[in-house]
Amino acid sequence: MFSIFGIMDTVDIKQFGQIVFFTGAGMSAESGVPTYRGRGGIWHRYRWEEVACQKAFDKDPLKVLEFHELRRQAVLKCKPHRGHGVLVRTEQEHPEMAIITQNIDGLHQRAGSKNVIELHGSLWRLRCPECGMKVEDKGPKYESYTCRCGAWLRPDITWFGDYLDEAVIARATETIRACDLFVSIGTSGVVWPAAGFPELARAGGAFCVEVNPEPTELSARFDLVYRGKAGEILPAVFSISAPGK
Ligand code: NAD
Ligand code: ZN
Repeated sequence: MFSIFGIMDTVDIKQFGQIVFFTGAGMSAESGVPTYRGRGGIWHRYRWEEVACQKAFDKDPLKVLEFHELRRQAVLKCKPHRGHGVLVRTEQEHPEMAIITQNIDGLHQRAGSKNVIELHGSLWRLRCPECGMKVEDKGPKYESYTCRCGAWLRPDITWFGDYLDEAVIARATETIRACDLFVSIGTSGVVWPAAGFPELARAGGAFCVEVNPEPTELSARFDLVYRGKAGEILPAVFSISAPGK
């Protein structure tokens, strides 16, 4: 667990005002949340065309909802790791800190993080395509598959072929532009708009750090790169003891 410079530099967060942690599937994979395409990934067992797109929902909403219940049950078996704990502690010391995540599993919030911008929605929220109502629903099974208006409720997440929520992207973009420390953790950075985030942070003058056991297409754009797992690197680099997570 060394930076590519061969030494374990630490990052003194007190030197920074606005901090953004940008997280992807790798952050949750370390907690055991199944990935999409990696080994044991969800799309080896299911066809997204049948369970994770608007067309599938229109054809068979119950099948789609039952698939998402299985995903909820898988996530509920997982626990946040020490890396999540470091982000919680950092926010306690830096209340203006933000997490921007591509993950839909809600692990940051379960760990105790407050200011979390979810780019792809949440597995723990449903919305009504007819009347627009949104409902938080956190159990292994949905409390109801249908809205009070009678329509099927759909998971409030970005599926294949969906547009991202423009208001959420705008909030994320503004937050990144204003930050002076940008830390990317566990994302390959190939999915848009994630691919543009380090560049955006750099343009705003931020110091950019990557935490990932593997090189990514974006690695060259970071000022500092740590090759290792989030659960090991974050506690070492940010030198904050995690609260028992
Ligand atoms: P990705 O699968 O493309 O990349 C994951 C990255 O994490 C890889 O670069 C890998 O080297 C790295 N990684 C693996 N273990 C790590 C660890 N312990 N610590 C740090 N890094 C580690 O994932 P992505 O970039 O997030 O993009 C894929 C898309 O899939 C996103 O759109 C995301 O919404 C979605 N997704 C979400 C979840 C979830 O909610 N948990 C799970 C899978 C996929
Ligand atoms: Zn409704």
